[in-house]
Amino acid sequence: MDERNTKQKALVLQAVRNHHSHPTAEEVYLEVVKEIPNISLTTVYRNLNKLAQQGVIKRLLIPDQPDRFEKNPTKHYHVCCKVCGSFDDLEDVDYDYSMDGFLCKKSGFFIESHDIIFKGLCFNCQKKNNI
Ligand SMILES: [Zn+2]
Ligand SMILES: [Zn+2]
Repeated sequence: MDERNTKQKALVLQAVRNHHSHPTAEEVYLEVVKEIPNISLTTVYRNLNKLAQQGVIKRLLIPDQPDRFEKNPTKHYHVCCKVCGSFDDLEDVDYDYSMDGFLCKKSGFFIESHDIIFKGLCFNCQKKNNI
């Protein structure tokens, strides 16, 4: 890997680590482009995927939404607000490791891991809607 690639990758990682939550590739790009004005979104995306493959960061696949990335690669659940779209870690429920490494009796499917995104209303949207 040449020097330019190393610098790109380091800045991409730094942008994910400095972000307060779960940035999309575009949000990471907007940070990295401040340091490397000629970098492309494709390059940022490629670096994000490489870092995710290496287990340094985590890539979250969300139905009907762009992928998000986060600095915490450990297993945990998420919440997504259906009104404002805010996306966060769920801190009230621990990851259920007993579900992993589970062989389904009927289908023979072997479960390696699982992701759960709980849908609902964030605190701010509840206040706005007077619920
Ligand atoms: Zn909300
Ligand atoms: Zn998270």
